[in-house]
Amino acid sequence: MTKKKRLVLILGDQLDLQGSALRGFDRETDEIFMIESAEEAQYVWTHKAKIALFLSAMRHFAQVLEADGYPLHYLKASSLSITEALRAYLLEKQIKYLVCTEPGEWRLKQSLKALAKELAIEIEMREDEHFFCTHHIFDEWAKDKKELRLEYFYRLMRKKHNILLDENGEPEGGQWNFDQDNRKPYPKKGPGMIDGPLSFETDQITSEVLEYVGEAYESHPGSLAHFNWPVTRQQALEALNYFVTYRLQNFGTFQDAMWTDTPFGWHSMLSSSLNLKLLNPREVIAAVIDGWRQHGFDLSAVEGFVRQILGWREFVRGMYYLDMPKMAEDNYYEHDRALPNWYWTGETDMACMKDAVRQTMKYGYAHHIQRLMVTGNFALLAEVLPSEVCAWYLAVYVDAIEWVELPNTAGMALFANGGRFTSKPYVASGAYIKRMSNYCSSCKYKPDVRFGEMACPVTTLYWNFLIKHRAQFDASPRTRLMTVNLNKISVEDQQAIQAHAQVVLNNLDRL
Ligand SMILES: Cc1cc2nc3c(=O)[nH]c(=O)nc-3n(C[C@H](O)[C@H](O)[C@H](O)COP(=O)(O)OP(=O)(O)OC[C@H]3O[C@@H](n4cnc5c(N)ncnc54)[C@H](O)[C@@H]3O)c2cc1C
Ligand code: SF4
Repeated sequence: MTKKKRLVLILGDQLDLQGSALRGFDRETDEIFMIESAEEAQYVWTHKAKIALFLSAMRHFAQVLEADGYPLHYLKASSLSITEALRAYLLEKQIKYLVCTEPGEWRLKQSLKALAKELAIEIEMREDEHFFCTHHIFDEWAKDKKELRLEYFYRLMRKKHNILLDENGEPEGGQWNFDQDNRKPYPKKGPGMIDGPLSFETDQITSEVLEYVGEAYESHPGSLAHFNWPVTRQQALEALNYFVTYRLQNFGTFQDAMWTDTPFGWHSMLSSSLNLKLLNPREVIAAVIDGWRQHGFDLSAVEGFVRQILGWREFVRGMYYLDMPKMAEDNYYEHDRALPNWYWTGETDMACMKDAVRQTMKYGYAHHIQRLMVTGNFALLAEVLPSEVCAWYLAVYVDAIEWVELPNTAGMALFANGGRFTSKPYVASGAYIKRMSNYCSSCKYKPDVRFGEMACPVTTLYWNFLIKHRAQFDASPRTRLMTVNLNKISVEDQQAIQAHAQVVLNNLDRL
């Protein structure tokens, strides 16, 4: 009996020879299909560095596949969408069987299923095994919970995968969470010397990609001048090793700290490698725990890091598949303002926003607290339409893929789902930014001034937000202290805050 030919689709964020799509691949009958689709770079106005990262990593992966003798159909710089190109190829070759790993975007998952139906072919969509938690396990965990909270999910993952547990199955160090030892600001004099990220040589493939993206996507946001992301598995492994050796020890302590012109702090910069599947989270966690045992780092640094990968990363993915497509449409506060233009340029007098946006445009990177408490906090307080904010995050960060971007932006930063998996909106005034950074010292605005010419827009909008949503903040013990503080502000001053907030909201582009 002749074997049926299968087409194996590998997407730009599935670059692993061990990936589930390649399991059982028959080199005699099967073929791999990869495509650089312009649509993927255009449906949000994607940062040049993100496009370059995907294309360079894909071309390097294609080179590995070819060197290994895999039959590969690779479409370079195609103007077709992924499904259009697939449709044409499946029809041309009369292939009736499509294999793939589940895409990280709900939109693409639906369109692949629809294509298979339209062509009356079989589609085998395999589980993405780059995660600790399967959809089934997440859904089982979530189904009888009144509240979906990271902390309990994280403990389950620690137990299930025997990570950072002592011989009695109890958490290493006697507690699950070391947050009180972490998350400090930098010393008053600044962060001191922090070595920059590891540098990677720009080989011929990357040079060609940079040249191509610079021309073909000239009008897109961001710069290519500082492109330095791992584009091969080897480079990603080097980046992991570098992080464990030189940065991990201070990761936890300064996880939330911000400082002008310090774009990377002690962060790992591993998210793009993890999300493109150049690295597996299992090996990342193993390397970090190994480093802790070998070098005697503080448990707090290591637990803080493990929590991000085994906790947050897995949790938001579970939430994404549980709540899509509703997650993309939720707008709890019914916000409808446009995203200020300076989110694309950094041209604002607000020092915190300027630094976060400029480094984003320079590298395609900002660390978590910049994303959550600077640009995210402001977008929420400024009442920006969630879908506009989400499109911005998806466009400008090199690690942005919808399964991780959307729950973080809509769910965590914007509270657009009304607190489905967070206990309160993450809102803060300029006082928080002042405490965690040096931004305010060089800013035109003053973080503790609530209204008037010198007032910090973050502070004005924060109090305005609390006044507007007083009942919501009053109702929860976790946020009541915020309204207690609000009640200490005189009625006249509250009115002045509201009046000034209207001026700020009407002039968001001119801050
Ligand atoms: C509004 C907003 C949007 C975000 N969008 C993305 C995104 O598109 N892609 C993305 O990978 N992360 C996103 N994050 C999470 C986090 O900000 C980034 O993972 C992190 O900044 C990447 O830098 P790093 O690798 O240096 O991380 P580190 O600070 O070194 O953290 C280590 C790793 O933990 C994981 N991690 C940490 N926090 C989270 C989180 N909240 N959710 C999921 N994984 C986490 C990442 O894989 C990261 O590489 C977003 C966060 C917010 C608040
Ligand atoms: S004063 Fe306000 S706007 Fe300026 S840096 Fe501080 S928080 Fe940001």
